[in-house]
Amino acid sequence: MNIDEQTTNQPLNGDLLPSEEKRKEGPYALCECHQSIPCNPCVTSCPTGAVSLDNINDTPDIDFDKCVGCSQCVSACPGLACFVIDETYSDDSALITLPYEFLPLPEEGETVEGLDRKGDFVSEVTVQNVEDAGENEKTRVITIIVPQEAVHRIRNIEIREEHHG
Ligand code: SF4
Ligand code: SF4
Repeated sequence: MNIDEQTTNQPLNGDLLPSEEKRKEGPYALCECHQSIPCNPCVTSCPTGAVSLDNINDTPDIDFDKCVGCSQCVSACPGLACFVIDETYSDDSALITLPYEFLPLPEEGETVEGLDRKGDFVSEVTVQNVEDAGENEKTRVITIIVPQEAVHRIRNIEIREEHHG
């Protein structure tokens, strides 16, 4: 699968994922960036040097051995293209940490709709954590609990209107 196909509903294939071993160890980042534009906050925000670009117009590479799943890149990426995946949460559920720039914010414990890369509904998901924006009002980082089988399909959420109507 090439980088453009990441924008479809298809799960990512092995080329873009860490090894099976790393996926079983804990959280890891994916930067699903498919535009060759001069941009590098994913690189500069990473405290472990896990993200690299051959030149600033390239799409990023992640060294999964260095990634500690801290989510700094999720908040820093202006393209909202970085996510942290944790497939070790439980036997049937995984965590996705994603950027979120809409209001209202979901509440922790709330059930929301998990959407795929096209915005189509995949599954109901539960909001586990809504990170504080801090002084800089940076992009919010939200962690959701998703079914294991949907961990590489869900990349966004939508809040149900009746919860905030
Ligand atoms: S999750 Fe943290 S360690 Fe991993 S690539 Fe992003 S900023 Fe770097
Ligand atoms: S910060 Fe985001 S948009 Fe910019 S190069 Fe990195 S992944 Fe792509």
